[in-house]
Amino acid sequence: MRRALVTGISGQDGSYLAERLLADGVEVHALHHPSEARDRPRPAYCPDEVVLHIGDLTDHKAVGGLVRELAPDEIYNLAAVSSVARSWQEPELVEAVNATAALALMDAALRAQQRTGAPVRFVQASSAEIFGQPEQSPQDEQTPVRPVNPYGAAKARAHAGIAEHRERGLHAVSAILYNHESPRRPAQFVTRKITSTVAAIARKRADRLVLGNLEARRDWGWAPDYVDALVRAARADLAQDFVVATGVAHSVRDFVSAAFARAGVDDWARYVSVDSDLVRPVDAVELRGDATLAHDVLGWTPTVGFTELVARMVDADLASS
Ligand code: NAP
Repeated sequence: MRRALVTGISGQDGSYLAERLLADGVEVHALHHPSEARDRPRPAYCPDEVVLHIGDLTDHKAVGGLVRELAPDEIYNLAAVSSVARSWQEPELVEAVNATAALALMDAALRAQQRTGAPVRFVQASSAEIFGQPEQSPQDEQTPVRPVNPYGAAKARAHAGIAEHRERGLHAVSAILYNHESPRRPAQFVTRKITSTVAAIARKRADRLVLGNLEARRDWGWAPDYVDALVRAARADLAQDFVVATGVAHSVRDFVSAAFARAGVDDWARYVSVDSDLVRPVDAVELRGDATLAHDVLGWTPTVGFTELVARMVDADLASS
């Protein structure tokens, strides 16, 4: 039986990835962050079959020991401080988790492979934020890496580490993920903030949605599609990096408008205000990915478009509010 180690199990993607791997008959082990484990011994949405190992990714020795003990066939590194906003506030933590610990995990994977002789397939959850404010749109695997925030900079260091470990013989893949969403997205992220607040407004439990830059344009996809791309990338014959994106960008304003329409609220502008404190100091006008390589090599294609994505999120928030 194939065995996988997943980090970041309590996050949006961790739960979907665990479900995807279990459906494939994979034995799934997961690193569960101690801060989260204190409050929630089993993360929300984490399937019962997942074997949890409490540990912090920055504890390189313990994580290296876990990799040695499990000798997994596949490692998916999803653990990260994943908020750009938080990365301005805690850049050292972001560097430690998103870059240094990711590199240490790659080292541990390579050592395990060298010791046992059995190949380890390593997938790093990278981000479109490594491109910063790109001059070209859409971006692809050849787009220059020029991050403009601490989150993107740390992800860029891990991205470079993947190329290095690939040269050293690891089947190492950097999946350059564009924004992907679902009802499991935490409410501090803009899309879920929009859908949960819109649902509350529709239910007359709130009267204001406060946002930053309404004109920022992002390429939003459906999270389960993106974890499917990670699995396909792990199992591909050749290790290489892949952009994972829908290729279609919409503005935050479009997202807001679609969410209010789905909730049946007219004249939405009167509920929305902009707070300049929520506008990023530096931001890309548009991040939009070209996933042609993932399509051609992995047979991957997104299954949920923008309107359907917004509808699923709003419906879930209406149902729970
Ligand atoms: P998420 O919901 O924020 O989940 C991140 C996970 O990492 C959480 O389980 C978190 O646990 C864990 N974690 C953080 N610090 C840790 C540490 N020191 N040790 C162990 N675990 C730690 O993120 P996501 O949306 O699922 O995204 C998954 C990955 O894809 C992340 O690497 C993210 O940067 C990347 N990505 C996501 C998107 C997107 O649109 N979702 C786009 C591009 C890239 P706690 O909650 O306990 O801290």
